[in-house]
Amino acid sequence: MKIVILSRKRDLYSTRRLVEAAEERGHQVRVIDYLRCYMNITATDPKIIYGHQALTGIDAVIPRIGASYTFYGSAVVRQFELMQTYVVNDSAAIARSRDKLHCLQKLAKAGVDLPVTGCAHSTKDVEGLIEFAGGAPLVVKLLEGTQGIGVVLAETKKAAESVIEAFRGLDANIIVQEFIREAAGSDIRCFVVGDQVVASMMRQAAEGEFRSNIHRGGSGHKVEITEQERAMAVRAAKLLGLEVAGVDILRSKNGPVVMEVNSSPGLEGIEKTTEVNVAGAIIEHIEHRVTSTEP
Ligand code: ADP
Ligand code: MG
Repeated sequence: MKIVILSRKRDLYSTRRLVEAAEERGHQVRVIDYLRCYMNITATDPKIIYGHQALTGIDAVIPRIGASYTFYGSAVVRQFELMQTYVVNDSAAIARSRDKLHCLQKLAKAGVDLPVTGCAHSTKDVEGLIEFAGGAPLVVKLLEGTQGIGVVLAETKKAAESVIEAFRGLDANIIVQEFIREAAGSDIRCFVVGDQVVASMMRQAAEGEFRSNIHRGGSGHKVEITEQERAMAVRAAKLLGLEVAGVDILRSKNGPVVMEVNSSPGLEGIEKTTEVNVAGAIIEHIEHRVTSTEP
């Protein structure tokens, strides 16, 4: 097969591993910086031009679109869809998955267990909002944050009020969420490919920190997940239309709850922690999908 990886940098661990895994399995693979592509908007013969040449004869596309480039990145992915090329995560699913609130609303509607969550912009009824989310302690998040930045734990009602009021001053969308204390600073990253969790790890926050993000000093550990967690992760990915996804789960006293779903989950932490060939699993999935959809 001819596989294209849409990625800004070929030396990123995830990109390198996908190239390696594709070549190991006998495929031709090219890394393409999607910001350098241009396209014609037409009903007949849509094209993508990269380095003066039209990209043709491609069997599969693996989008690794950075959070800051969702708009143009998903437009390039959409153009591949117009060209009838198989893409591992489609443009609509990528764009949707970048909107945390949209994701939570979709999951909630389908009955997936979530932490009690409220969302607001500039309500004056801060007390009502706090009550809505079950009272303090609460986690308050900026909707547009990543890597744990803009996620604050408010232990008391007073603290929650001040944080919400401060965020209101930023003119931002916020999420107010029940604090899952029992998770004790850990969450579970389930790496979903197709309808399977191919690898999972527990991320544990650094001492004195409740956020388990690796960027905040968290560390990865091996973990056994339950059947319920496995089924929950696969279902969440499916509901959001993602064939490859990182589903983050918190273990609450009432059972597992989905916290976040990521459409370009990193490979480094999960492969190094679990020693599973996740890149290989993605390529294998593509092989099945492309051969089963070919006429
Ligand atoms: P980001 O997109 O910035 O990673 P998250 O919503 O994933 O934001 O939150 C960052 C971290 O904070 C999570 O990995 C988790 O460890 C912790 N966290 C977030 N929400 C909660 C919550 N409701 N209860 C307990 N811990 C939480
Ligand atoms: Mg997160």
